[in-house]
Amino acid sequence: MAKFPPLYIQNSLTRKKELFTPLNAPYVGMYVCGPTVYSNVHLGNVRTFLTFDVVYRYLTFLGYQVRYVRNITDVGHLTGDSDDGEDKIGKKARLENLEPMEIVQKYTNDFQDVMRVFNMKSPSIEPSATGHIVEQIEMVKAILDRGYAYESNGSVYFNVRKYNEDHDYGALSGRKIDDLINNSRLLDGQNEKSDPLDFALWKKADASHLMKWPSPWSEGFPGWHLECSVMSTKYLGTQFDIHGGGMDLKFPHHECEIAQNTCATGEAHSVRYWMHGNMLTVNGRKMAKSEGNGFTPEELISGNHALLERGYSPMTVRFFMLQGHYASTLDFSNEALQAAEKGLDRLMNAMSALEMLPTAMDLPNPDVDVAALSKRCSEAMGDDFNTPILISVLFDAVKLINSIASDRIAVDETQKAALVMLFNGYVSEVLGLVREDGTTGESEGESGALLDLLVELRGNAKINKDWGTADAIRDALGALSISIKDSKEGSTWERD
Ligand code: AMP
Ligand code: ZN
Repeated sequence: MAKFPPLYIQNSLTRKKELFTPLNAPYVGMYVCGPTVYSNVHLGNVRTFLTFDVVYRYLTFLGYQVRYVRNITDVGHLTGDSDDGEDKIGKKARLENLEPMEIVQKYTNDFQDVMRVFNMKSPSIEPSATGHIVEQIEMVKAILDRGYAYESNGSVYFNVRKYNEDHDYGALSGRKIDDLINNSRLLDGQNEKSDPLDFALWKKADASHLMKWPSPWSEGFPGWHLECSVMSTKYLGTQFDIHGGGMDLKFPHHECEIAQNTCATGEAHSVRYWMHGNMLTVNGRKMAKSEGNGFTPEELISGNHALLERGYSPMTVRFFMLQGHYASTLDFSNEALQAAEKGLDRLMNAMSALEMLPTAMDLPNPDVDVAALSKRCSEAMGDDFNTPILISVLFDAVKLINSIASDRIAVDETQKAALVMLFNGYVSEVLGLVREDGTTGESEGESGALLDLLVELRGNAKINKDWGTADAIRDALGALSISIKDSKEGSTWERD
């Protein structure tokens, strides 16, 4: 089995940075809460999915075989994240006069398009809540059987106080049950529950409710928290490695997931490392649809939004977000995006310059210590996926490449190959930064046009019988492992 470099993860449950030791290496199970598909995703959502895209990419880069499960929430998430609101999808279906499943499809498609635009890897499994109603009913039964839930008027509620007698409700979020009790006294309209602290596992649907299924208790629908308990354990087992989501899901969503899993199986915490991505903010306030400060990726690219001075490309945004550590808040601003655009350009240009550097055999340059750079990259990522530090190490390499390129000196062939690998690995595979024209650091777009031009100049030189220039061009390209093929139709270039 491969030996993995040390990776430390800030575990939200223990509040400690812990050495990552998967339950069953080289396999890793990772579950991330997906979107509620009732509207277009905004850039804040993108940040959280990007955080876990990089986690997934880095684990895969290290050689772990990751099963990455990210769900689609298509039922049970009620307005206000409460137990009494209207289903967000049902509400949208009513407003748009569509079937709830049309809403689900429309916004799932939108979400997946956005994920592609931002170069996010697809999860291994993307299960939906409505596809797992049977399993959710089974989990409610298991929790009832173990005595941690009760039925009331066709609905089933989780008994938080009873759970807290044997376990610690609030262990993840740090909430204190006494504070919750005091706050919950202010809530009303929840008289079906024996205690306002309790949360719904199953809700009886009224006649006007659109999305409902038969169950032993009523025709109804599952509570929001239940789906993630069910789908994570169904695909990853009752104990698994990583569970992620945005910081705002810690409470109540993830706290309730822990309680449900514990009571369904009788085993303590099912997740070994809880990870939470911090929020994208605008002028210090969380970006959210309800705040009116959220813009969609489409608006971002077109620049068509009051907060945007102009449009920005998806890779610029990706780079901007990765310049912050996932656990810190990140404030959106036009200035920061414009600076990111320049930084990304420098990085991509250095990758192209590296490709073009002439090589020499057995000419190691003592300043080019790729092993040391590589170690620093791995240490940065090994320290809780510290992408800003990784980027700063990559910029040290950029400086080095630029100075070699401007000195017009040849670089040792082996050192160049190692640098190319370093960049391809960390920039393209781990950070997922690609050229906007769809190519990776290879920059086929720009360098391809330059190569076409050189081939044309050589053709002209041959017509003018300037053999010296024609040969010089061919030899110079040969040194870059690019050969010129002459045929009746003309000349073309090829990378060897
Ligand atoms: P939702 O579709 O509302 O369930 O949210 C999908 C994901 O986006 C969740 O993991 C949220 O925590 C996350 N999210 C929502 N708003 C923001 C934000 N402003 N910054 C970062 N993540 C967010
Ligand atoms: Zn979830």
